[in-house]
Amino acid sequence: MNTSINSDRLDEYIDQVSYEITHCLNCQPRDSGEWIWVLGIRTYLQDLLNDLDIPEPYHEAVTKGLTCPHCGTNIELESDVGIKTDYESYIDFKWKEWYQKYQDKFEEFFYFIKKYPYLGLQHKLGKQIFEKVPELPKIIIEKETWFRARKVNGSKLLRTEDLYPADPEKVEIGEGRYNHFGQNVFYLAKDDYGAAVELLDESGLVWLQKFNLIKSDKIIDLSHEISEEPNAELDLLSFGLRYSKVLERRVKRSAGWKPEYFIPRFIADCAKLYGYSGVKFNSSRSCSLNLVLFSWESEGIQPIETPYIYKFEKN
Ligand SMILES: [Zn+2]
Repeated sequence: MNTSINSDRLDEYIDQVSYEITHCLNCQPRDSGEWIWVLGIRTYLQDLLNDLDIPEPYHEAVTKGLTCPHCGTNIELESDVGIKTDYESYIDFKWKEWYQKYQDKFEEFFYFIKKYPYLGLQHKLGKQIFEKVPELPKIIIEKETWFRARKVNGSKLLRTEDLYPADPEKVEIGEGRYNHFGQNVFYLAKDDYGAAVELLDESGLVWLQKFNLIKSDKIIDLSHEISEEPNAELDLLSFGLRYSKVLERRVKRSAGWKPEYFIPRFIADCAKLYGYSGVKFNSSRSCSLNLVLFSWESEGIQPIETPYIYKFEKN
C-alpha cells in the first residue's frame, strides 16, 4: 500500500463514499440492450470523490473498497454510480436523529412498563406518547376487504358467526398486541396469508372469513407498506412509531409472559381514551398489514360469503 495512505482514514473515506452510493450501472434496467439509468442519481465516481473532499492519493484505494450495495458489483474509478436523492439523504438524517433521540428511551420505557404495566404514564416517554396520540396520522377505511382466521379444530365446520370476536362472558380471550386479557377487539389482516400467519408457526390449515369493512373512521394509522418511501414530514416520534420496529417486537406464542405487547397496548389504551376506534399496524410476522378495531357497528362490517379452509404455506 502507498505509504502516504493511512489505513484508518482510508476506512473512514470508504464508509463516507459507500454511504452515498445506492446503485451501479449493473443495477439499471435495459431496454433493447440499452441501459436506462433510473436507480439513484447518475454521478461520475470521481466527481463524487471530489465533492466529498476525498484527497486524490486516496481515490484508487477508496474505489477498491467500494461495492454496489444493491447488487454487489465491484465499482471502478472510471464508472458512474447512482447516489442518494436529497430526499433519501433527508430520510437517513431523520433515522439518525430518531436513533439518537429515542432508541434508548424506548428501551428504558420497555423495561419500565414491563415492571409496572399499569403505570406507563408515570414514565417520561409514556407521557410524551400519550400527548402525541391525538396527532398521529389518522385514516378512514371504506369499502375494503379484510380477513380473519381461526384455527381448524378437528372436523368442526365453522360458521360466519364463529369468525367474529368471541363473547368474553362465554369464552376466554387471550391477551394480544392491542388488547388486554379478556377484552374483545376485532383483529383483521389485509390478506389471507397475513391472517393465517398470525395463528400458525408452520404450514397448515386455517378457517378464513372475508369481511367487507364498509366504513370505519377514526383509525390511527401506524402502518406502512414495505416498499413505501417514509413520510419525512411526520414529526420524529410519529415517524419512529410508524416506520421503526418499536411496536413490532415479536413474542414467543407459547410464552406465558409477553411484555413485548405492553407498549403497543399502552398506545391502544391512549387511543381508546381519545375516542379512536382502531389502529392499523404492520404485522410482526409477515409483510401484511393488520387492523385492530376497538369498537365497530355491525352494519359497518359485513361478512363476504361464508368461511372457507385456507392452506397456509409458510414462506
Ligand atoms: Zn449494482
